Amino acid sequence: MRTLILNAGYEPLQLVSWQKAICLVLTSKAEVVAEYGQVVRTISTIYPLPSVVRLKRYARVVRRLSLARCTRKNVFLRDKFQCQYCGAQCRSGSITIDHVIPKSRGGSTSWENVVAACQDCNRRKGNRTPESVGLKLRRSPRRPGWRELLEDTHQDVVTDWLPYLDTAG
Ligand SMILES: [Zn+2]
Repeated sequence: MRTLILNAGYEPLQLVSWQKAICLVLTSKAEVVAEYGQVVRTISTIYPLPSVVRLKRYARVVRRLSLARCTRKNVFLRDKFQCQYCGAQCRSGSITIDHVIPKSRGGSTSWENVVAACQDCNRRKGNRTPESVGLKLRRSPRRPGWRELLEDTHQDVVTDWLPYLDTAG
């Protein structure tokens, strides 16, 4: 069971264990926004299990929810292990990351500039742009929604989280 932490303004920040969430509530750092409808019992007390809590003070956002970061793994998940040039379905061992605008030409490692590519297409493309070698992207890369990534990683998406995740983009 995990709990979604919202910033004071209801922006989603992070998923944490329910233990940590209860800790935030007990130390008055956060308030419960939604509950799972289950309780945790200790010897002396019963706590409702929170599904969403909100920080009482604004937290400076150090990092976004790790799921939304542009990492190799997350790019493969977004592209569903499919080469974004030829459409080949790849296994995790044979798929590569391609910078659409090559790094050597100033291309960044960002959601909008990296795609999953099979080894053949990646080799064919090399340090060039897709157009110059006759490759075409099947769809233009973009930052995935958090909900999308959560579903791709087969994590249970808790209904209580959706109103906050959907607006976060
Ligand atoms: Zn390919």
